[in-house]
Amino acid sequence: MNTMTGLPASPGIAIGPLWVYRPVALDVAARVVADVATEWGRVETAVSVAQSQLATLYDRALAEVGAEEAAIFEAHQLFLEDPSLLEMIQASVEGESINAEMAAYQAAESYAEMLEAMDDPYFQARAADIRDVGRRLVACLLGVSLDSAAMPTQPVVVIAEDLTPSDTVGFDKEKVLGLCTVHGGPTSHTAILARSLGIPAAVSVPLRLHQLVEGEMAVLNGRSGTLILNPDPDTLAAAQAEQQSWLALRSAELAEAQAPAITTDGHQVEVVANVGSVADAEMALAYGAEGVGLFRTEFLYLDRETLPSEAEQIAGYKGVFAAIDEGGKEKRPLVVRTLDIGGDKEVPYLGFHDEQNPFLGWRAIRMMDERPDVVLTQFRALLQAGVGHDLRIMVPMVSNLDEVRRTKGLLAEARQQLVAEGKPVAESVQFGIMVEVPSAAILAHHIAAEVDFFSIGTNDLTQYTLAVDRTNERVAKLASPFHPAVLHLIKMTIDAAHAQGKWVGVCGEFAGEPAALPLLLGLGLDEFSMAATAVPTIKRLIRQFSLPQCRDIAAHALRLPTTEMVAAYLRGQVGE
Ligand code: PEP
Ligand code: MG
Repeated sequence: MNTMTGLPASPGIAIGPLWVYRPVALDVAARVVADVATEWGRVETAVSVAQSQLATLYDRALAEVGAEEAAIFEAHQLFLEDPSLLEMIQASVEGESINAEMAAYQAAESYAEMLEAMDDPYFQARAADIRDVGRRLVACLLGVSLDSAAMPTQPVVVIAEDLTPSDTVGFDKEKVLGLCTVHGGPTSHTAILARSLGIPAAVSVPLRLHQLVEGEMAVLNGRSGTLILNPDPDTLAAAQAEQQSWLALRSAELAEAQAPAITTDGHQVEVVANVGSVADAEMALAYGAEGVGLFRTEFLYLDRETLPSEAEQIAGYKGVFAAIDEGGKEKRPLVVRTLDIGGDKEVPYLGFHDEQNPFLGWRAIRMMDERPDVVLTQFRALLQAGVGHDLRIMVPMVSNLDEVRRTKGLLAEARQQLVAEGKPVAESVQFGIMVEVPSAAILAHHIAAEVDFFSIGTNDLTQYTLAVDRTNERVAKLASPFHPAVLHLIKMTIDAAHAQGKWVGVCGEFAGEPAALPLLLGLGLDEFSMAATAVPTIKRLIRQFSLPQCRDIAAHALRLPTTEMVAAYLRGQVGE
């Protein structure tokens, strides 16, 4: 028996023979070309072939997996239209006489490396997408089909170095019991796919593929991120029992996902989702989300040369409203976070400089003084798109009251401009801030009077309170929101808001953590916003507790002095 632990990517237990996925090998050799015009013509032809392959994959993914997966191929088509990628290839071919295959490979690789260097795990994960597009382009140039890789013929636990979107869409989903990769993080494509299919997955599992024995029995636990090879009979029996109870629990959760989450003593709790696109929003509703508690707007600004226009932004926001309001049937809340971008992300047109500490630098709302136009345009677009909807605007990275006042000033200015121009303006728009910098939590009693709500960003609040870089794997163990100091800041924030009659949500990962549920409910949290797939689990858990019970649990947890004690106590209260 051999046990390896990586990172959990999608909950559940898979048991079956292991099968190693080996992608089609592409042999890219460098050549010097004489006729650069013909060579560039080859690239243009390959781009259009790749585009039509991606259109086919889009249709297939939409039919077999769903909108979120299909959207990945739409994004790939956009990558292939990206002028900066094509210009890089063209410069190599025409300027340096490099052959098309090598030029395409190098351009995709350097683009991917740029994304990997960003601090945000979401953009790091997009590096895999750009590599996938690069491979497709190279395959088209070489005349090789990417679909010719061997596929499983019976249900298996798939093990791979890494999986690209193109790889995974080729699988017969009936034959995939679980997914396990050597690379990738919890926001990697493998993880997204596994969660949308509801199959167990683990990523970053330290494996050497050439040492694996095909067909050997594997037990994959997507909650703990563990892979057991060749389990002994007791371990196998325990895993089978665990799998049965997980399957029963998940189907019970999904069956009740659309019902409200009401505690045993009758309090309804708002459970909403974090989204970054229209496809995410549709997915969130399917999992029972009652609206959106965090819409990350960064995607509107990335992979482009200029700021998105007001009209483009209005269209983007209206798309999300249409998805969550189901074409006007409902009026669900949409909490839109204004641009949260910083020195860690390359947005050349915004004038970022290299920074030693991008997480502590010129980012998010801090750009307001130098670039009020960026914030003002976003507010103008939001106020117009929000007409007739439940719009709530939220500002990230606030660290003092002055920032709140100046941001509100800009929002008022946007409103006045629109009124003067005779344009439609959303009326009752809530204005709130993310509490993710410790100073905002400490000053919450002052800030609460001037906002409509707080949403606690526990990912950054943990990073800044504990001085742990959230992207540094070596200190990852220290970055726990169960740390007593983080708990006290959460309590201060909720108490300060409630003292002024304002509502408070959590939109960091902590909101979707089952063990945190009774604690946060006991502290009085009003809204829980999380990854879509966590919604059914959290809703079901809410239905198992009463508020007085949760208050007792929270009071006890707050008296504990260490992270380990808090986590162990809370896990004990929730059980498996
Ligand atoms: C957070 O910091 O908790 C949060 C929700 O924002 P992000 O993860 O996008 O920084
Ligand atoms: Mg944050």
